[in-house]
Amino acid sequence: MTKTALITGITGQDGSYLAELLLDQGYRVVGMLRRLSLENYGRIEHLGNRIELAQADLLDQVSLSNILREYEPDEVYNLAAMSFVPTSWNQPVLTGEFTALGVTRVLDAVRSVDRSIRLYQASSSEMFGKVRETPQNEDTPFYPRSPYGVAKVYGHYITVNYRESYDMYAVSGILFNHESPRRGLEFFPRKVSDGVARIALGLADHIALGNLEARRDWGFAGDYVRAMWLMLQRDEPTDYVIGMGETHSCQELVELAFARVGLDPERHIRIDPRLFRPADVDLLVSDPSKAKAELGWEPAVSFKQLICMMVDADMERLQTSIRRGDLQPVH
Ligand code: NAP
Repeated sequence: MTKTALITGITGQDGSYLAELLLDQGYRVVGMLRRLSLENYGRIEHLGNRIELAQADLLDQVSLSNILREYEPDEVYNLAAMSFVPTSWNQPVLTGEFTALGVTRVLDAVRSVDRSIRLYQASSSEMFGKVRETPQNEDTPFYPRSPYGVAKVYGHYITVNYRESYDMYAVSGILFNHESPRRGLEFFPRKVSDGVARIALGLADHIALGNLEARRDWGFAGDYVRAMWLMLQRDEPTDYVIGMGETHSCQELVELAFARVGLDPERHIRIDPRLFRPADVDLLVSDPSKAKAELGWEPAVSFKQLICMMVDADMERLQTSIRRGDLQPVH
């Protein structure tokens, strides 16, 4: 029997990769979109009519219940969120509405419409923040360092609470940073891959960056969405940490990206203190051993392969724009 999956946040990076994976597995895929005045299908237009799209909003309980009644999903992947950490300091209340209370709304829609629906909640390594131990696993206490991290902690515990209160199959995937050529341009690795490609093609002269000492545990989004799916295929619901188990500095990422196009980063980087976080996280490094043992999850793409993939994709995209005459080299 064909299973139906509903993905909130289908227009985002992870939503698009997850949709591809589920279609390959034979699922009927329904993507939830919020109403915008302009369509925002850049990451999913290649999927065409292989997916169905439906409007609802994390801020609107009625729309969430209605979408479950109408499409009767077997699995719900709650990926929608205000997901950019720096913005969460400027919009802390809205971040709480989307990223914290939005989770309760989705869980309660499942509880009231059909408790047999399996639910995945997109939790984050940002919940560990000022870390209590290194590396971090499923038992590591949380100490978030941004309104985003605080909201994700709420989302995590409300997921655990609904699982325990209502006997629902609801799991929280605590995912460390994952990137791809589809990552938003404001996120550090994509800002670097896009900036490096622009410099290599004569479209820009430099990139302004923040704290290059910061270290992160970075993996490929395509690998991480496979873990989300695996978490919903178990007999018993439980939470998992997903990450590479290794960290790299922002400086290292920058050097790899420039090396890919044969340029010297020293000549093209400007450090801008305004881009430093008001309170940064400590050394976030995952211990994904539970996921490896129980889900059989292994990442296929290394950190170096990921950065090269991102630079190559931005080079190709910008070269196409130059050929079309949409962009003109100036340097
Ligand atoms: P993303 O690219 O920023 O996508 C976020 C999605 O949420 C977009 O589709 C966005 O829709 C949607 N959304 C935001 N507010 C909404 C609302 N009120 N109603 C309905 N949809 C709404 O994020 P991502 O990188 O794919 O991440 C997916 C999830 O994993 C997020 O919850 C994120 O916080 C979490 N996470 C990500 C990482 C990572 O490294 N990528 C790590 C840990 C956890 P629009 O297109 O309309 O804006």
